[in-house]
Amino acid sequence: MDIDATEIALEAAALALGKTRILIIEKARIPYSENRQNLQKGRELRLAHDRLTKLERQLREAKNETDAVNLQLEKAIEKANTMAAGAERANRIKSEFLANMSHEIRTPMNAVIGMGQLLLDTRLDAEQADYVRTITEGAEALVQIINDILDISKIEAGKLEYEQIDFPLVALIENVLDMMAQKAHEVGLELAFVCDSRVPSGVVGDPGRVRQILLNLVSNAIKFTESGEVIVRVKIADEEDRSLTVRFSVTDTGIGIPPERRTRLFKTFSQVDSSTTRKYGGTGLGLAISKQLAEGMGGSIGVHSEEGQGTTFWFTVVLAKQPPDKTRPEKISADILEKNVLIISTRPCILESVSACISALGVRPYTASDAEAFISRLNPGAPPQDQVDLLIFDADLDWSAFPLSHAFLADVKAAQSRPPILLSRTFGPSREVPKWVSQGAVPLAKPVKRDQLSACLRGIFSPAEEMPAIGKESVVDAHAHQQGGRLNTLKVLLVEDMLVNQKVAGRMLEKLGITYVIAPHGKRALDILGKERYDLVLMDIQMPEMDGLQATRIVRDAASDVLDHHVPIIALTGNALKRDIAQCIEAGMNDVLAKPLQLNKLKAAIERFSEASKLYGRPLAENGRTEKIMVFNREDLLERLGGDETFLNELWPIFLEDAEISFRRLKAAIEQGDLEKIFYYAHTIKGSAANVGATVLRKAALEMEMAGQNEDLVLAKVLYSNLQKAFQSLQESFSAFHPDSGVTSTH
Ligand code: ATP
Ligand code: MG
Repeated sequence: MDIDATEIALEAAALALGKTRILIIEKARIPYSENRQNLQKGRELRLAHDRLTKLERQLREAKNETDAVNLQLEKAIEKANTMAAGAERANRIKSEFLANMSHEIRTPMNAVIGMGQLLLDTRLDAEQADYVRTITEGAEALVQIINDILDISKIEAGKLEYEQIDFPLVALIENVLDMMAQKAHEVGLELAFVCDSRVPSGVVGDPGRVRQILLNLVSNAIKFTESGEVIVRVKIADEEDRSLTVRFSVTDTGIGIPPERRTRLFKTFSQVDSSTTRKYGGTGLGLAISKQLAEGMGGSIGVHSEEGQGTTFWFTVVLAKQPPDKTRPEKISADILEKNVLIISTRPCILESVSACISALGVRPYTASDAEAFISRLNPGAPPQDQVDLLIFDADLDWSAFPLSHAFLADVKAAQSRPPILLSRTFGPSREVPKWVSQGAVPLAKPVKRDQLSACLRGIFSPAEEMPAIGKESVVDAHAHQQGGRLNTLKVLLVEDMLVNQKVAGRMLEKLGITYVIAPHGKRALDILGKERYDLVLMDIQMPEMDGLQATRIVRDAASDVLDHHVPIIALTGNALKRDIAQCIEAGMNDVLAKPLQLNKLKAAIERFSEASKLYGRPLAENGRTEKIMVFNREDLLERLGGDETFLNELWPIFLEDAEISFRRLKAAIEQGDLEKIFYYAHTIKGSAANVGATVLRKAALEMEMAGQNEDLVLAKVLYSNLQKAFQSLQESFSAFHPDSGVTSTH
């Protein structure tokens, strides 16, 4: 019986007892003389009274006992409360400790990875290189685990904060897919992306966290799927005035998850099969973190699965909308919108994915999954508005279903009149692709992406579209003409493996009146640069045979065979992330242009470098000086100073003095590993370099500033010598130009 009930019972009993006693006493007052019967009753009553008194005593004792138990209970509750508070505190301390520890471990791990990479760049024999690679790979895996633990402990300690910044959502997803594509294709999996056309290209939220969840789900899907496909779908689940709920799903055709294991999936260190660690690798933290992150961003996560059939993991997050003027809609010209695009594949997921991409650009897609549909769509007798303008073939389709397509392609005569062909292909060798490419098809890397496809469409149908809208062609041509003796004397080497990119960049160069030569990879570029001088190199990063970074390092290496080690090199890259830019600059490139290329940006960059090389770069280099190109933009500075040369000469020593102080402090900060100070002094140098138009120095300082911001001491150390060199060249360049300025190099 619980305490309250006992108390009520006791009270009721006491009340009843009181009443009985009054009754007994009243009965006892009846005079003895009344009759014998009464006497007898009196005796009975006394007995009853005695019994009741005894009962009353027992009840009182019972109540006392209950009170004592109550007291004990209260004490126990109090004790439990203190213990719970203690446990909570201990848990928080543990999480904070973990967070601090993993941070501490991460820093030296970065050194291991950084140094490993530097080591790989030195002369090593194959065996040594293999050892170093294994070390860095191990270190990278370790950092991943540490990052996971750091996340878990941050989440548990309530310390995880979410960013609210503008970011390109679609590009971010595409970037994740690009990262995973090679892995998927290596094991023969198709990786497709289906993006609803309502998903805006830009939103506001935490890009790093969205990316983290998606990366984990896609890598799980690839990890647990032996054959078939992985499809990533993204759509809008809900829309409010200022926010969107975006739903991501990742569907695979893998091993599936038994129903009884599904509930535990999102707990830390939980894996369906404890042997998975050995078979598939991983720690079982990914989903637990993903759940917390999705919930932290106002969404949720879940799974549907059928054993042996496959699994779909989905999650939602709430993201804020960008103001309408920021969400730049895809700029596709009206005549492209009217084109008829036919997509050909035997795989439904490819048809779905490429169609979604085409529709998102505002163009209507048609699909054909067998030869019959293909031929009837291609009907040459159809009226012009129904003629197919572009074919997008899936290179991995089941070719036996398309016997006619080979004949169609092999017909050289028909080649003139048939529509252009894009060939979406996976990594790795293929029998079909080279054959098709030799027939003029343009390869397109899978998974097919919105921006890439839109660049292709523009490249094929209207390469000059990026220019101001007033009378497109004539403006561009007039502009190129205006460049007159400036740009059209330039000779550019375009190093790029993808045909479509060659085409786009090539057409742009033509529009600018620039002569160019194409090299399909770094090795060929080196051959060409060994035979002839060029004014500028446009260099892609990822290429077969030899990538752009390595080729640049060789060009800059004074011992290599190229004729001009100082030729300006502009990187062309699809991922203009801070780290990638730093990599390019570190390799010795002078600038970075983001793909898809834009004519005006390309033109501006070329002008900058051709001007600079004319003024300071090449003549000095040819005089045997170790001069850097474009060390400072004198014209720009002079213009800002109202053409006052005397003022320029006065300004110079002040700048030098300031910069030298900042340099000394920066050096000390690097030696002490004080990242905040590194950031601060790099920032100071950047500012004053910008003031005097010292472009190279400003850029080098910016890299350093970023290294400070990203807490990357290893990179800062590497960048310091670059920065110093840039400063030195600047001093030399200035005194070369102003021999009587009285300022000499202090280094
Ligand atoms: P990591 O911490 O490196 O991510 P993990 O991938 O094993 O390790 P989770 O991502 O949390 O950890 O996944 C937990 C478990 O859920 C996996 O070990 C696996 O058993 C199961 N699982 C996850 N995704 C799939 C999938 N697509 N198909 C089948 N099983 C899956
Ligand atoms: Mg995982």
